[in-house]
Amino acid sequence: MSENSKTLRPTPPGVTEAGLDAALAAFAAAIGPDKVSTDPELLKEFQDPYQVPGTATNLPSAVVTPTSVEEVQAIVRLANEHTVPLWPISRGKNNGYGGAAPWVRGAVMVSFLAMNKVEINEELGYAMVEPGVSWFDLHDAIEEGGHDLVASIVDIGWGGVVSNTVEHGLTYMPNSLDQAAHCGFEVVLPNGELYRTGSGGMDNNPTWPLYKRGLGPTTTELFMQSNYGIVTKMGYWLMPKPEVYMPLWLQVWDDSQMPAVVDALRELMLAKVIDMRPQLSNTLIMASMLTSRAEWFEGTGPMPEEIIDKLAKELGLGRWMMRFALYGDEAVVDHNYARLRARFLQIPSVQLMGQKYSAEEWETLPNPHERVQIGVPSLDLYKMAGWSGGDEGGHVDFSPVIPLTAKHAKEAQELFEKLCHEAGLDYLGGMLPINARSTTFINVIPFDTKNPEQVHRAYEHAKHMVEVAGKMGYGEYRLHPYFADTAMDQFGFNDHIQLRFNEQLKDLIDPNGIIAPGKSGIWGSRLRAAGFPQQ
Ligand code: ADP
Repeated sequence: MSENSKTLRPTPPGVTEAGLDAALAAFAAAIGPDKVSTDPELLKEFQDPYQVPGTATNLPSAVVTPTSVEEVQAIVRLANEHTVPLWPISRGKNNGYGGAAPWVRGAVMVSFLAMNKVEINEELGYAMVEPGVSWFDLHDAIEEGGHDLVASIVDIGWGGVVSNTVEHGLTYMPNSLDQAAHCGFEVVLPNGELYRTGSGGMDNNPTWPLYKRGLGPTTTELFMQSNYGIVTKMGYWLMPKPEVYMPLWLQVWDDSQMPAVVDALRELMLAKVIDMRPQLSNTLIMASMLTSRAEWFEGTGPMPEEIIDKLAKELGLGRWMMRFALYGDEAVVDHNYARLRARFLQIPSVQLMGQKYSAEEWETLPNPHERVQIGVPSLDLYKMAGWSGGDEGGHVDFSPVIPLTAKHAKEAQELFEKLCHEAGLDYLGGMLPINARSTTFINVIPFDTKNPEQVHRAYEHAKHMVEVAGKMGYGEYRLHPYFADTAMDQFGFNDHIQLRFNEQLKDLIDPNGIIAPGKSGIWGSRLRAAGFPQQ
């Protein structure tokens, strides 16, 4: 714990209280005092809700809420002058990955809630969005404009389109495979200059949101999961409304048949019969969205096998359940559905069901899972966080990427389940393919934030899992601050050349380490010299 984390007021590393006051006064003079706040009530929103209440040390010192790109540039320039780190967030709902909290105590939050413009181009099928645009905003803009388009969205609609994209977040429709629905970023660089990636390097180039490359190296990906700039605008591709949308459910009643389903899934994805991102979940993940643990089991260790089985049957879930969908002209959907049946129903204990809907019907489908896959957002699937602690429940997610084969899925599943049980925790596992060849293996580790020992055990367990998976050659797809440095450590090829390269770049473009220090293990020389990462 650093010196300043013991004082009441969070100040950034190496910055005095007077220095912080001078920085905040400079921000206020540049963008207006109403857009700079140190109100303790407001600052409470920039904490990770999944920590034991009252124990967080990574607290922000202030929040600035710019309303234009020029204001973002002014903030970044002044932050350099005062060596005050900034932590950009879009909607601040990154729960399970550290929430809205900065990774460095005393950082100034840059909140984009006041920059939420959406422009839609129906002819070319894309939206141009600012970072404050939520999934609800995007959906509403499409509907209110009467556009014949749908957006690929996440399960819980309160997050942001830009933030989810820069974090390599997963959505479900065809455009989202390989996390490739974005095209063209506008970025405020760490020195305050405005930069556009891809064809945006040319004045007035109309293909900026259409063509992902430009001339020379394309740098868009450098601004994802990084701290090389603040994204202020992004192109996001949309899909024309299909004639027919057919949400599908596949149930696997015999636990041991999951690997066979994975092999069939890969074949069908490679052949593009399934051309979207399915979600294959075990009983407890599905159950966590419908019920709470206490309704089935009050014991302290992991939920026993016979109770999981009972729950699977009584809630009609199966031991594994896959949510997925077909989109397109009715004749194509019918053809592909027949191919799915022919392949999946060869596997013992598998059932498959689905129903076709037209655009008039899908907006109001009663099942939120079915609405999500056609771009209709809700908050209904948030219940998962309450599996172990009700309203005060939380979770930390450990999600390595593995090859999409039966062999790897079986090995990973057996090992992760065993480790979870050894730690005395329920096993909530599932797969969200990245593409037809690889998948994230999601492990949701739930806890009750009122139980400090359980919270500590869950985070330690997640960190341990990161190390074990690393030894098997599997890396995380996304980082929680609690295990960010450990996860980056697993990428050790050639004496950690990736991290060394990232650090060199950081020092070159952000010598004061102003933008999101610590993100993806990239601290920059100034903070490394000041003792970061702290143990
Ligand atoms: P969401 O509300 O969509 O869950 P957040 O707003 O909490 O996401 O942002 C998640 C993370 O994404 C942040 O902690 C930050 O690292 C990164 N991020 C968010 N917005 C931006 C942005 N405009 N530019 C750069 N990075 C961002």
